Amino acid sequence: MTAAEPHCEDRIAADSLWLHQAVMTPKPIDAHCHLFSARYVVEEAVAMGWAYATGNYPHAEAAARAAPDAVSPFSWSRLVDVVKWFLDIRAAVSSYEANCRSIAEACRMGLDLPASAELIVAPLMMDMFYMFGPPASRPAQGIQAGRPLRGKRLRAAEDGEASEAAFERFRRQVIALAVERAAAVSVAEIDRIFRDAKSKGTAKKVMRGFAAGWELSRGFRNQIDALIDLQASHAGSVFPFFAVDPRRCGAVDMAIRGIPELNGGKPLVTLTGPFFGIKLYTRLGYLPEDVPDELYDYCDANRIPITVHASARGFPPGSHWEYAGYAAPRYWQAVLDKHPALRVDFAHFGNGNPDWVRQILGLMTHYQNIFADLACYTQHGELFQVRKVWSDNAIVRDRLLFGTDFVVSSLTKILSLEGYFEAFREVFGAADLHKLMTINTRTFLQPILPG
Ligand SMILES: [Zn+2]
Repeated sequence: MTAAEPHCEDRIAADSLWLHQAVMTPKPIDAHCHLFSARYVVEEAVAMGWAYATGNYPHAEAAARAAPDAVSPFSWSRLVDVVKWFLDIRAAVSSYEANCRSIAEACRMGLDLPASAELIVAPLMMDMFYMFGPPASRPAQGIQAGRPLRGKRLRAAEDGEASEAAFERFRRQVIALAVERAAAVSVAEIDRIFRDAKSKGTAKKVMRGFAAGWELSRGFRNQIDALIDLQASHAGSVFPFFAVDPRRCGAVDMAIRGIPELNGGKPLVTLTGPFFGIKLYTRLGYLPEDVPDELYDYCDANRIPITVHASARGFPPGSHWEYAGYAAPRYWQAVLDKHPALRVDFAHFGNGNPDWVRQILGLMTHYQNIFADLACYTQHGELFQVRKVWSDNAIVRDRLLFGTDFVVSSLTKILSLEGYFEAFREVFGAADLHKLMTINTRTFLQPILPG
């Protein structure tokens, strides 16, 4: 007999409890991940570049109406950085299907689950097209935007040049990046994407449907189609969220009414899919109040969940992003006053900004359907910190959700995906991880889950 044995038995008991829960109870859920392809990044960046080269980025008329004297933060070097950033992510060498399998496999490995154990995932779509456009509303008085790096923002004339020559330089840079990173999009395909954009002549034609009142850029559309296909072949385990940027003409129509070009004219976001929730990324340059209220009405009436980015870090990378302050959770107050039952997940739980964590806790106290997720908690220090908030606040123990942020989290290179699951289990323990991954996530997503 050694002293180690009882400990060992405890551990086996805890493990078998976890195993029992995992097999006997509903599937665990990753409430926040992203699936995308290298092709999406190239297609969308090319659409942005061509619109800019022809003097129509993001869409001259509407942008001028929204904020007449706003300055566009567009530059070619920033656009190249975006392409580089996405192609650095491991997923860029893979497909939606393969990435989806990777998460479930890592979950089984990291948590020692049987091969038959399944995982539900909620992939959040992205819409990067408008990130370098003027903000949807002029920064309100008192808005704490990020600090633009004046020195670095002084760009060479070439970097702001709106011409075919600049677009051609951009093409060569994208090809070099894709080759270097062995991205899953060939040089021939990239060339074709560039050629197609140019053959459309004007940016308006790059955006299909513009005359009818909506904007469908090629990458955006393909991402929608790919997620619809993925969902159809994994019904019951894949629940995509549709990205709404209020600057994209017709985005709300696509979500709640349907447009002829997508999903057979039916709305994209319903309780039965193909999209089940809304993804907002206010950090890209809009406030919750810039989103038309009819979208909140629809979500409220149908109990559709909304996930909004709420971290000091994010996309585009760097803390000096001009619109970083738009993500402050307090801007939700006005929307929630009007729609107190709205289901909102504050993604990343304000990570990196203690004031935002307090704001989220305040909203949780006042509104019954406010949640937060722990996507991209790749460092042990962050996990221990949040574990303390969990222990100190009863409300948090009912409202925190599990998320991986895969494939974005793969960029941090600190942990493998399998290690990510292991770290959560180590810090939270089997029972609390079960609450995070299965009970709380289910409460948040309950209206859209079958049964
Ligand atoms: Zn994310």
